[in-house]
Amino acid sequence: MSSTLAGTPQSVDEMAGAFDVRRTDAPLPAEERAAALASPRFGTVFTDHMARATWSDATGWSDRRVERYGPLMLDPASSVLHYGQEIFEGLKAYRHDDGSVWSFRPEANAARFARSAARLALPQLSTADFVGAVAALVRTDLDWVPDGEEASLYLRPFMYASEAFLGVRPSMEAEFLVIASPVGPYFAGGVKPVSIWVSEDHHRAGPGGTGDAKCGGNYAASLLPQVLAHEQGCEQVCFLDAATNTAIEELGGMNVFFVRADGSVETPELTGSILEGVTRSSILRLLTDRGHDVVERRIPLTEVRSGIQDGSITEVFACGTAAVVTPIGRLAGTDFDLTIADGGAGDVTMTVRGELTDIQNGRAADTHGWMTRLV
Ligand SMILES: *Cc1c(COP(=O)(O)O)cnc(C)c1O
Repeated sequence: MSSTLAGTPQSVDEMAGAFDVRRTDAPLPAEERAAALASPRFGTVFTDHMARATWSDATGWSDRRVERYGPLMLDPASSVLHYGQEIFEGLKAYRHDDGSVWSFRPEANAARFARSAARLALPQLSTADFVGAVAALVRTDLDWVPDGEEASLYLRPFMYASEAFLGVRPSMEAEFLVIASPVGPYFAGGVKPVSIWVSEDHHRAGPGGTGDAKCGGNYAASLLPQVLAHEQGCEQVCFLDAATNTAIEELGGMNVFFVRADGSVETPELTGSILEGVTRSSILRLLTDRGHDVVERRIPLTEVRSGIQDGSITEVFACGTAAVVTPIGRLAGTDFDLTIADGGAGDVTMTVRGELTDIQNGRAADTHGWMTRLV
């Protein structure tokens, strides 16, 4: 149980041990938990506990603990409520067949959390505290880690500015929490391609903005375009770059890939306004390992439209922790509506999806050292 995380000198036991576990004496009864685990709807049911630590400029991080899940006390003047100083992460805990529980590249999430914190002028949290909080919570709520095919415990670390102060400057106080929610297969009844609306009227991020930080504000900006995409009969929205309104960036919460007929694969290069997905970087690696020519570059929408039309683009997919890999069957915008190949899920898409989920669920060897044992 004391595996050491890549990049930190401490074992997971030591990192989790920094969190004082204060168990609730009123956990959800086992039958109710079983019912919740049987058919979880994404992000609607939460485990009995949450991990937490408190920061102030004067004392740094303190009071690392796991406590009963419940409402937060928030002063109405808390700066997060006024200026949106908040960041978050998303990762999963997977139960393997032998009962052990693992997470996928948590140190990558910790590093991104630190980058997001720097951009949002929030305090730095160490990788040890990030992974320690995750491990301490998963250990405390172990019974909540589902064991079904493609089921997992979704973990949501987040940090917000808690100082009660209406002046515009970085908060001198912050709270860090991790909450957890059991999730079933993202695609109940099999993987189904989604339709995408390319937004030409709204952007989620601009040059020099917060697009490469995982912050709530980016999501706030993506909600109206998402609603408008729905009104156009599409399930998700794809954003173009704010500077020229011509290059593909990403979806509201997923990165995007294009597969060409010659087997090469392309994804938009990281320009500062795209969020660097852990799934994205893992897929780049897996595809390279499989011998695909993989290119990160600026990808104009016009090129994508003509590529889909002339058949040189054969597959499009989106990726992120929640859905892993989602085939895209249709791409539409104000003056176009294109079906990609036959509109179904492509081979490269489904192969890389299978490779990734096999590693995460312990069905394939973890040759890249991506898995960290939590329990
Ligand atoms: C979280 C997120 C992703 C996907 O990142 P993963 O680490 O793969 O889950 C992609 N785009 C945006 C905007 C995101 O917030």
